[in-house]
Amino acid sequence: MSGHHELRAHAVLSASGSKRWLSCPPSAQLEQQFPDDGKESVFAQEGTLAHEFAELYLLYATHQIKAPEFNRKRKALEKNELFSPDMIDYIDSYITTVMERLNTAKAESGDAFVMIEQKLDFSPWVPGGFGTGDALIISDKAIEICDLKYGKGVPVSAVGNTQMRLYALGALNGYGVLYEPDHVRMTIVQPRLDSISTDQLTVEELTRWAAEVAKPTAEKAAAGKGEYKAGDWCRFCRAKAVCRVRAEANLELAKKEFADPPTLSNEEIGDVLSKADELRKWAEDVENYALVHAENGEKFPGWKLVEGRSNRKYTDEDQVAVRLIAEEYTEDDIYQKKILAITKMQKLLGKKRFETLLGDLIVKPAGKPTLVPESDKRPEIGSTASAAEDFK
Ligand code: SF4
Repeated sequence: MSGHHELRAHAVLSASGSKRWLSCPPSAQLEQQFPDDGKESVFAQEGTLAHEFAELYLLYATHQIKAPEFNRKRKALEKNELFSPDMIDYIDSYITTVMERLNTAKAESGDAFVMIEQKLDFSPWVPGGFGTGDALIISDKAIEICDLKYGKGVPVSAVGNTQMRLYALGALNGYGVLYEPDHVRMTIVQPRLDSISTDQLTVEELTRWAAEVAKPTAEKAAAGKGEYKAGDWCRFCRAKAVCRVRAEANLELAKKEFADPPTLSNEEIGDVLSKADELRKWAEDVENYALVHAENGEKFPGWKLVEGRSNRKYTDEDQVAVRLIAEEYTEDDIYQKKILAITKMQKLLGKKRFETLLGDLIVKPAGKPTLVPESDKRPEIGSTASAAEDFK
């Protein structure tokens, strides 16, 4: 295996952080004052494992390894405590996408081939810029990069996606001269969200963006120059809790001139709602920052650290049971048995087996009404689109 998975080092100007530093160039250097805590979340570890499986399955599907090696490595990966059978079902849909794209590319150009876990160097445009392409399909017509995102947060669009564009530049840097493709395709596969998104640019469009936007902005960012600019990219900035520009932008957002009458109109409430989400996130970031620093002994005027509320708990559940059974309580009295929750059950069975065995016993009740911005993809309750959705 390539071993790139856990080595996806974070450069100052990383591709994954490119939306942030392209929008707010000095954030790249400001962030360096707030080092990463180095702790990898369990979701990131799960993502790493999923990428290892994806690499292995793709090597096998493209006949780059034989069955004994595949089986030996698969069994070793399955020993990881984060493994669950449904991971294979999700990986399978990513492999299917890559193989479909490879077959299409082969139909377009007989010489098409795939490279797996390929290091991509886009440093000619971004100082120190490199990344790893999960699957790279190369031919003399096109280069396609497929990126597996295993998280189940929000769907990420490939359209206009700067991370994918930088990867595409890296691919062009490595293979463009030899193959002279006309265009690049960038695909993001999020199997747990059933989302596949593709963008396509001509090589000329991509290199123009690189020369006019990526390169000059990266140079500013590397030098800590340019203008600070707050936006939804701030959520991924290590300076997000203490950044003055973000604070000012949010306080500005909160300013509202309310005229008579004494109660708000629906238009005004709509306006407050549209700002509330960003303000809430900012306030949470500041609170978390202050809590961590207060625990380390820092003082924030007007605030103090106290013990929060807590609930009673057993120190030893086995001892509790022994004592109660000795007092003639039965196991039925003292234990409660519950079937596994749906997500855990699906993890246990795998997605396909879950559907086969239990599909007809699962219903999805209507969700609690939620207010969301009009741009949200879900149909409005009471609309024709919503009725069609219910009918499905
Ligand atoms: S928090 Fe936002 S505005 Fe501040 S440096 Fe980071 S990205 Fe820029």
